[in-house]
Amino acid sequence: MHSRPRAMLLPIVIIAVSLSAPSAISAPWIDAYRDPAARLLGEAMATRFAWERLAYIGDTFGNRLSGSESLEDAIEWAVAEMKRDGLENVHTEPVKVPHWVRGQESAEIVAPRRQRLAMLGLGNSIGTPAAGVEGDLLIVRSFDELDAAGSAVKGRVVLFNVPFTNYGETVQYRSNGPSRAAALGAVAVLVRSVGPPGLRLPHTGALRYAEGAPQIPAAAISTEDADKLQRMQDRGTTVRIHLKMDAKFLPDADSFNVVGEIRGRERPDEVVLVSGHFDSWDVGTGSTDDGGGCVVSWEALRLMKKLNLRPRRTVRVVLWTNEENGTRGALAYRDRHKDELGNHVLMFESDGGVFRPTGFGFSGSDAARAKVTEIAALLRGIQADHISAAGEGADIGPSVQAANIPAMSLDVDGNYFLIHHTDADTIDKIDPMDMSRASAAIAVMAYVIAEMPERLR
Ligand SMILES: [Zn+2]
Repeated sequence: MHSRPRAMLLPIVIIAVSLSAPSAISAPWIDAYRDPAARLLGEAMATRFAWERLAYIGDTFGNRLSGSESLEDAIEWAVAEMKRDGLENVHTEPVKVPHWVRGQESAEIVAPRRQRLAMLGLGNSIGTPAAGVEGDLLIVRSFDELDAAGSAVKGRVVLFNVPFTNYGETVQYRSNGPSRAAALGAVAVLVRSVGPPGLRLPHTGALRYAEGAPQIPAAAISTEDADKLQRMQDRGTTVRIHLKMDAKFLPDADSFNVVGEIRGRERPDEVVLVSGHFDSWDVGTGSTDDGGGCVVSWEALRLMKKLNLRPRRTVRVVLWTNEENGTRGALAYRDRHKDELGNHVLMFESDGGVFRPTGFGFSGSDAARAKVTEIAALLRGIQADHISAAGEGADIGPSVQAANIPAMSLDVDGNYFLIHHTDADTIDKIDPMDMSRASAAIAVMAYVIAEMPERLR
């Protein structure tokens, strides 16, 4: 889908020029940061380093689900690599993570005619008995339709066929649908994949069983298959579905958040934190979700180190473990760093894919928002200077809420949810120049916030 030219180095010159010419509408104080910002941008845009590093991760370790050997091998590699970059205080922080395994799985129409469905079991789902489960299909398009079906749900395989609007809205059918249908006696749940129509790709993702409700197996099917089943039901055809899943939980596994720093030269205890989550689903290579977010955040520190830029405050990168099916890494960080959360000046997370960066989402005081908006003017040359309403991230969330820390996320322009949690989440969907732009944008923002004399408040 993103067939862009790979090595376009020409724009570097234009960026350098536009950065060196102060804009009439910029705040005067920002002029002191034009030189380091131009150097960070120049260094990032001159190479494909970030993209090559992300490609290496996907090619070498593949996807990285919590509890997997590939995640732990990737973590070990990242520690060694951060040290090689010259980052300081590089270490891991232990986290016990859930260990869910998918196993073999399939879903098919068995009547009126045998046809396989393109499916992926939902993360955290229980498996089926060895022989699978079977039931007549009932399709609903909302929770209201489910509740209206009442006793007709009993013994059925329920399909939630709810077209994608936005993630927050549509994902509730994946998260809560299985327990809602189980409460009415369904034997299994299928969910229309949470994403726009693609090339008949199912999207996995976590479900959340309600406390005390019966647990039934659940899987996502492609939007195309959901549309087909809908047409069949609309014609009055009785469709019988067979679902087989070996999914199960093993005992919790050992994992780690990875931490590296550039220690602040004057106020090392004050921390500007940048981050992404290193775990992924067990499909594709987790390149956009969220290997890319990890690499561009990490890259901000590598660039500073390379250019000998040591800001006043500490800049810390964290590669979180277990965002996808537990957020245990985020909770462990909040608890472990409880006493120093008050020294966190800003927490940043990139977890929306790395496509062309347009700026940042920010949550904090009006004064802090004004400051951040002035800093973003340094990114006009790469059109990444827009500050939008909310800074958020599943991994920074617990700490941000615990200590009321200003929060920031990377805003990008790309079709993230087309490949999100699918086998198509691979490096070829990512433009090397976008990786460089994102790295530069994060580096400039983090550097100025860590360097400016007064603390962001
Ligand atoms: Zn993610």
